[in-house]
Amino acid sequence: MLRHLTRKLRASGPVTVAEYMREALTNPGQGYYSRRGGVGESGDFITSPEISQVFGELIGIWYISEWMAMGKPTTFQLVELGPGRGTLTEDILRVFKQLASVLSTCDVSVHLVEVSPKLSEIQAVMLTGGKVQPSPEDETAYMKGISKTGIPIFWYRDIQDVPPGYSFYLAHEFFDALPIHKFQRTEKGWREVLVDIDPEVPDQLRFVLSPSRTPATQNFIQPEETRDHVEVCPEAGVIVQRLASRIEKDGGAALVADYGHDGTKTDTFRGFRNHKLHDVLSAPGTADLTADVDFSYLRKMAQGKTATLGPIKQREFLKNMGIELRLQVLLQNSSDTATHEQLLHSYDMLMNPEKMGDCFNFFALLPHHRLIHPDKKDKQESKSPLPPVAGFNELLLK
Ligand code: SAH
Repeated sequence: MLRHLTRKLRASGPVTVAEYMREALTNPGQGYYSRRGGVGESGDFITSPEISQVFGELIGIWYISEWMAMGKPTTFQLVELGPGRGTLTEDILRVFKQLASVLSTCDVSVHLVEVSPKLSEIQAVMLTGGKVQPSPEDETAYMKGISKTGIPIFWYRDIQDVPPGYSFYLAHEFFDALPIHKFQRTEKGWREVLVDIDPEVPDQLRFVLSPSRTPATQNFIQPEETRDHVEVCPEAGVIVQRLASRIEKDGGAALVADYGHDGTKTDTFRGFRNHKLHDVLSAPGTADLTADVDFSYLRKMAQGKTATLGPIKQREFLKNMGIELRLQVLLQNSSDTATHEQLLHSYDMLMNPEKMGDCFNFFALLPHHRLIHPDKKDKQESKSPLPPVAGFNELLLK
């Protein structure tokens, strides 16, 4: 990967951080996700669904709760962007199976958007026991199979390939993996941060500033910006626009969970390898590269087509979803000390503000009519109040 990049930089000059990140992560031959894709304990970074089954179970309940609140449509697609090892979908499908009597009238299918051939293989084993088949060329899915619980599953490279229809979308630690542009305020105005070869050290990369404004500085920096360093992820913006249009047209909801901020942070671009911070410019393709998600940008990109909720901290969302109750049940159901310790440890990882509780956030896109009665004028007593959206409101146990 380094050789490929240095050849490219010598031939055509410095590239944007977005271009560098795209190559390092998803280059079909040498990209990190294409080759290594190290999610999980034995990989480079650990994610909430890999820590505890409770995480995915509560998300499964969130979808069922929204499905009920939206009048139990007779069919829905569960669409996950960047499913990693497939653990989150596996936990959600287990909940769907446990609540089969509730969902019995509903035709459910699963649609996974995954660019990495290596990870899609792992997902296929996890979800179907490896019983998958490649799709014919004329179909938009590149692979299909049936889940262990009997639900059809399809794989795509792009959200645009997923057929239209009433859908519940899920993006957990997906947006943070998408390429960002970086900008620096200078005395001469905004400049874009670029990646170049270090002339002093062979085969080493370095950051440089664009000598003048670039098309990206013109398009992405708001005149009222007060920060000196800004990161923008246009690809995340395009995907949110697509999700919002699809939800507006066909119905459904999207749940986004990631580490991030509300338009306040500056330099968050970093790398992880073997669970340790890794220099983003060294040995590209061998480490995960990531940047905090700017939820204020996602909200703006929904462009009013849908309502948005959040970001709300992970520990508040999971608490509102009833994580404590679920933990108590699991503790009561097991008598061995090792399982108790493991349950308490994973609860602490997910909820502790010093660990994942505060830095991870939940954010949702919902049709406007889910939050406000379509005709506000006659919202009088005759109309029953809309049920609150689970997770974003305190759980009221009756
Ligand atoms: N959601 C999982 C994995 C997160 S890692 C979890 O929480 O455990 C990021 C995931 O997004 C990986 O599956 C990676 O292959 C996928 N990915 C990264 N860039 C992508 C892109 N542009 N399109 C589709 N999938 C992508």
